[in-house]
Parts: sequence; structure tokens; C-alpha cells
Amino acid sequence: MSLKNCLPDRPLNVAVLGATGAVGQELLDLLEARSFPINNLRLLASSRSAGEKRFWKAQVLSIEEVAVSSFNGLDLVFASAGGSISRQWREAIKDSGAILIDNSSAFRMDNDVPLIVPEVNPEDAFNHQGLIANPNCTTILLTVVLKPLSDLIPIKRVVLSTYQSASGAGAKAMSELKNLTQKVLNDKEVKSEVLPYSLAFNLFLHNSPLAANSYCEEEMKMVNETRKIMGVPQLPLTATCVRVPVLRAHSEAVNIEFEKPLDVAIAKKALAEAKGIELIEDYQANRFPMPIDVTGKDSIAVGRIRQDISNENCLELWLCGDQIRKGAALNAIQIAELLLPS
Ligand code: NAP
Repeated sequence: MSLKNCLPDRPLNVAVLGATGAVGQELLDLLEARSFPINNLRLLASSRSAGEKRFWKAQVLSIEEVAVSSFNGLDLVFASAGGSISRQWREAIKDSGAILIDNSSAFRMDNDVPLIVPEVNPEDAFNHQGLIANPNCTTILLTVVLKPLSDLIPIKRVVLSTYQSASGAGAKAMSELKNLTQKVLNDKEVKSEVLPYSLAFNLFLHNSPLAANSYCEEEMKMVNETRKIMGVPQLPLTATCVRVPVLRAHSEAVNIEFEKPLDVAIAKKALAEAKGIELIEDYQANRFPMPIDVTGKDSIAVGRIRQDISNENCLELWLCGDQIRKGAALNAIQIAELLLPS
């Protein structure tokens, strides 16, 4: 580990760029809850919310419109304002000497940018050049669960479907789901403005742009980012991503093929003992993980771990995780915690 790539050994000067968003608010809550060593915290967003106030650690902080001077004197910037904003401010952050932990997809697949899930590839974090990328939310949840299983027997192929909540599209999409649900209940006409279609009592395939191979961007992020994080560049993986009318927390149905059969009991034991995972399995009661089990929680819930009846080398499982928390803000802070001098 290179000490020059660690954060300074003193309370830090930190900024959250995108502080008013779904991920930004979660970052603020977790920085306080985890007693992250902060000297000065700067809350940055666009001119739309400049001047708004936020409570943080019994202080009232003002939201500032981001500018080049915003980054002066900072040690660390968490960015959660979207890819174009991260790209726009990348050089100014670099020039300030601060380390950028970026929640957007802007730099994730760049060769010189580590893409980190602390439970999976923590050692890669120290190879940064001032920028570390936080992976796609569904990918973080998946890789935390794949890692302890791949440590038992190498994985040959993964086939999965996601059930992604409204909050994955930000704070405005959550409000839209609430409003449109109310309208349907009152027999009123619904018209979506944030998401492309109404999610109220509905679902649709993930609306990110389609590639030439007919996979959407979200599905290809899962393929490419999982390979990078797991360090298996050719890992065969296929995904179907679906937006569902859940407010918060994503779910995934995952089929994992191993190089040889993996005993279900051994897989369950490894998952139960893994950091960041909670097993929720009550076969008597037919009760397995649900999004509400993990909302506002750090751990990823896994259950219905079972032998695939169509292939002896495959296991089936179901997982739920709070994608704003472990899928974004918590993972970003855990990356920063790796860089704190011990
Ligand atoms: P969001 O709720 O829509 O929040 C967006 C934030 O970006 C707001 O603070 C907004 O500030 C700020 N912003 C927008 N335009 C800006 C500009 N021109 N200059 C400065 N700030 C600007 O979005 P989110 O869900 O938190 O997502 C933020 C990022 O995290 C995205 O890259 C997203 O892909 C990623 N991410 C999200 C999730 C999730 O589950 N939601 C999970 C993983 C990663 P104003 O209040 O001023 O508009």
C-alpha cells in the first residue's frame, strides 16, 4: 500500500457534490452516523438549490452552487450529481489535490480508475491516481454476494434479472411514484414526467439507452463492471434489468454456474459468514428477503439459496439491498475509510 495514496492523518476537509440528491442526502447521514473524521464539510449542488439549508451534526450548513473555488483546500470529494457534472469538475478537483470518489458511471471503465467494492477488491483502491469510481448500484449488491461463493469454487457464468426501485432514478422519481400511485387510487389520469412511463401499479424494462446488441446500458454496466471488480475480464454474465414500483431498495434473482457442483449448505454457510450479508430464510413460513427488510440498512439480504434443478453446477438465489445505501453512499464512504491511515 502506498501511503501517498492515503488520506491525511487529521480531520478532513470534505465536499459532497450533489448534496441535495437521493445519494447526497444518504452520504450526509452516513458521514455523521459513521463519525467520519471531518473538519469542514461543504455541500455543493446547482444554482437551483443554492442557499437551501441542511442540518448536519447539529450545525446548519448552506448549499453552495459548485464553482472552481469550491474545491480549494479539500482533501476528499464525494460526487453524486451525475456523469456530466463529474466530468465537468474532474480537472478542478484534481488541481485542488483532493481525492474524488465518484458515484457516476463517467470513469468506471477507465483503465487507470479503480472500481471498488470494499468486500471484494479493497486492495485495488490504493492504485488510484486521485479518482476512485463507485460501481453501479445493482453491480455492488451482486458482487458482494458473488465474492464469497467464487472463493469456494470459480464461477463459470451468471444469469440474472433485477427488480429496481424508483429511487434508483433519484429523489424526483420517488416523488413521482408516490404522486402517480395516489392518482391511480383516486381514478385520476396519470402522466409521468421523470420516468418515461408511469411506475404506479406497473413495471417496465430499464429505460437506459439501448446498445446495438439490444441490451440496455444498465444491463451492460452490470456485465462490464462485474468483470472488472471480480478481476475476471471474460466472465460470462447476462442480465435483464426491470424497474418495479418499489420506493427504495433493489432485488435480484441470480443463477450462478460454478466449475463444479457447490453444496447448498456450504454456500449458505459462506454467505452467512461473509461481511455485509444477512441470510433471511424461513422455509416453514415461506419468508425470504424483501426490499422493506433492507431499506435504510447496510447489509444485503440473501435467501432461497437452492440447487438449480436444471443444472447440477448451478445455484439459484434471491437478494435485496438498499441501493442508495450499500449500492451508493455507504460503499463510497467505505472506500474512503479504506484510505484513512490506520
Ligand atoms: P438526484 O436525486 O437526482 O440528485 C442529483 C444531485 O445532483 C442533486 O443534488 C442536484 O442538485 C445535483 N445536480 C444536478 N445538476 C447539477 C449541476 N449542474 N451542478 C451541480 N449539481 C447538480 O440523483 P441521485 O439518485 O442522488 O444520483 C446521483 C448520482 O449517483 C448519479 O450519477 C447516479 O447515477 C448515481 N447513483 C444513484 C443511485 C441511486 O440509487 N439513486 C445509486 C448509485 C449511483 P440540485 O438540487 O441543485 O438540482
